[in-house]
Amino acid sequence: MAQPRILILGAPGAGKGTQSATISDHFDVEHVTTGDALRSNKQMDISHLDLEYETPAEYMDQGELVPDEVVNAIVDEALSSADGFILDGYPRNLEQVEALEGMTDLDVVLALDVSEDELVHRLTGRRMDPETGDIYHLEYNPAEDPAVEERLVQREDDSEETVRERLRVYRENTEPVLEYYGDKGVLERVDGEQAPDEVWEDVRAVIENA
Ligand code: ADP
Ligand code: ADP
Repeated sequence: MAQPRILILGAPGAGKGTQSATISDHFDVEHVTTGDALRSNKQMDISHLDLEYETPAEYMDQGELVPDEVVNAIVDEALSSADGFILDGYPRNLEQVEALEGMTDLDVVLALDVSEDELVHRLTGRRMDPETGDIYHLEYNPAEDPAVEERLVQREDDSEETVRERLRVYRENTEPVLEYYGDKGVLERVDGEQAPDEVWEDVRAVIENA
C-alpha cells in the first residue's frame, strides 16, 4: 500500500510528539504538527482576518485555540505535499474534523490515554532542544549530554497555570473529537501511561494491523 495516513490524538502531554517522531522514522511518513508549525509562525500577521487577536502568539500564550481558518490552511498545505503522514495536534474541535475530511482520508486513528495528574506532571517538566526539536523531560527523559542539557528551554505555555487552561480547552473542544471517531468505530486506544518504548510497541502494532 501507499505510505500510511495516520492521525494521533490525545491530551496535551499525552506523548503525541514523542511517539510521532518514532512513527515518522519507522514508517517513513511526514510528521505534520500544527503546534510546531504555529510556534514557527507565532508572530505571523493575521490582522486581515479580523479576529480577536492579531497574531497566533496571543492565543497560544494563553492556552487558547488558534482560530480554525488559520490552522486549517496550514494543514491543508502540509498534507497536499505529503505522501503518508503522521498528523499530530489537529483536529482539535469538530469544525477542524469537518475540514480535515475535505482534505484527505485516514488509514489509522489512534489515541493515547493518560490521566490528568500525569499530564500536568509531564507538561510542567517538559523541556525542548531548540536546535533539534527533540523533546525531553526533567525526570522521565533527561538529556545525557551536558551541552544539550544546558541549551534546553521550557515552552512558554508549559507553566502550571497555562497547562490547566489547555487541559480545560482540551476537555471542552477536543474530547468530542475522540467521541466522534469512537462512534465511527475507527478509534484505536493505546495506554499512554506506559514507558515510551512500551507505548511505541502498542502504537506500532495498531498501525501494522490497520
Ligand atoms: P501539545 O503538544 O502540548 O498538545 P501543541 O504544541 O499541539 O501542544 O499546541 C500548542 C498550542 O498551539 C495550543 O495550545 C494552541 O494554542 C495552538 N494549536 C496547536 N494546534 C492547534 C489546532 N489544531 N487548533 C488550534 N490551535 C492549535
Ligand atoms: P504531546 O505532544 O502529546 O504534548 P510530548 O510528546 O511532548 O506530548 O510529551 C510530553 C512530556 O512527557 C515530554 O516531556 C516527554 O518527554 C514526556 N513523555 C512522553 N511520553 C512519555 C511516557 N510514555 N512516559 C513518561 N514521559 C513521557
